[in-house]
Amino acid sequence: MSPLSPVQQTVSEAHRLRLDPIATPDRLLLGPGPSNADPRVLQAISRPPLSHLDPLYLELMNEVQEMLRYAWQTDNRFTIPVSGTGSAAMEATIANCVEAGDTVVVGVIGYFGLRLVDMCGRYGANVVQINAPWGEALSLETIKAAVEEHKPAVLALVHAETSTGVWQPLDGIGEFCHAHDCLLLLDTVTSLGGVPLKLDELGVDLAYSCSQKGLSCPPGLGPFTMSARAEAKLDARKSKVPNWYLDMSGLKSYWGSQRTYHHTAPVNMNFGLREALRLLCEEGIENSWARHRRNSERLWDGLESQGLQLHVPVELRLPTLTTVRIPEGVDGKAFALHMLNAHGVEIGNGLGDLAGQVWRIGLMGTNSKPENVDRLLNLMEQELPAFRQTAAVA
Ligand SMILES: *Cc1c(COP(=O)(O)O)cnc(C)c1O
Repeated sequence: MSPLSPVQQTVSEAHRLRLDPIATPDRLLLGPGPSNADPRVLQAISRPPLSHLDPLYLELMNEVQEMLRYAWQTDNRFTIPVSGTGSAAMEATIANCVEAGDTVVVGVIGYFGLRLVDMCGRYGANVVQINAPWGEALSLETIKAAVEEHKPAVLALVHAETSTGVWQPLDGIGEFCHAHDCLLLLDTVTSLGGVPLKLDELGVDLAYSCSQKGLSCPPGLGPFTMSARAEAKLDARKSKVPNWYLDMSGLKSYWGSQRTYHHTAPVNMNFGLREALRLLCEEGIENSWARHRRNSERLWDGLESQGLQLHVPVELRLPTLTTVRIPEGVDGKAFALHMLNAHGVEIGNGLGDLAGQVWRIGLMGTNSKPENVDRLLNLMEQELPAFRQTAAVA
């Protein structure tokens, strides 16, 4: 390190700053997210920034929008990356399309359903919760009965519940909602890119996702889309959207034809997202879904042949996130930490109701490949016995 100037020394001593260059290790991120970013994405992000109003950047925005529509299989005009993580895009769906006093039915099959409940409550909704145990999905009958009984303005569901590894079936739900004058809002944070999902075919009106799971990009952007029906609800609001930053009526003028300043877009993150979406377009969305399926089946077979139990029945299992039961007596957190420290491989611990009961293994985006599955399976086989022995002794 170069010698510090007297001013730097004072600052350094006062704040105990370490001024070495950043030296983060390469890790394989097989937890619930973030997932590894593709090298091509990282290269795109490192380009010098352009102005967010540069004609070249405005063109890039169009390209990102078009590729996002492809990824989601939607023609929704209003499809943009929100400047913020998945939770910002999540909040944007609710801030714009839920007005105080609206009834919202929220399907809660894990932690992220509860986050939706929390957000809807903060925007003054009359929230009705429908629940399934963590590891199960809601039945279509339960969902329809709740819509019929409560006549909500919005039905909010989580397509891929990252806390449990469950894939929520949606057959016919969109149509049913529309027949009951209700908007369908869907969390697709852990499904976009990796789990079969056609928004328009499903009749989804509002959806959001993130950049760092199935899209092989670092965290920082939250894809957001709304249908013409959702736009109509926004336009018919009696009150202003109570959140300036996420108000789509303001963002429309930046993303629409006027291109007037709203906030300074995180341009480099959008460079990265463009490259990530380009990767997806090159592969083809259906090929990407099939690849995620193949590699997760390889993982499931391998885990089961080591005598481990999967938490979710095969017909509801996500191809992007697998929950594995921690064997009796094994300290799950200690094992995950050992995998990280000794091997640079991250797996996730349980969340909420499943804390201490499962590990969460993500195979998302670029990370979904046989080499990664085999590396993880070999490590589990090699390292887990010692943790089982400790359990037996204790
Ligand atoms: C990760 C995740 C979120 C939140 O996204 P962030 O990017 O962490 O803000 C929301 N919903 C689900 C299902 C998730 O997995």
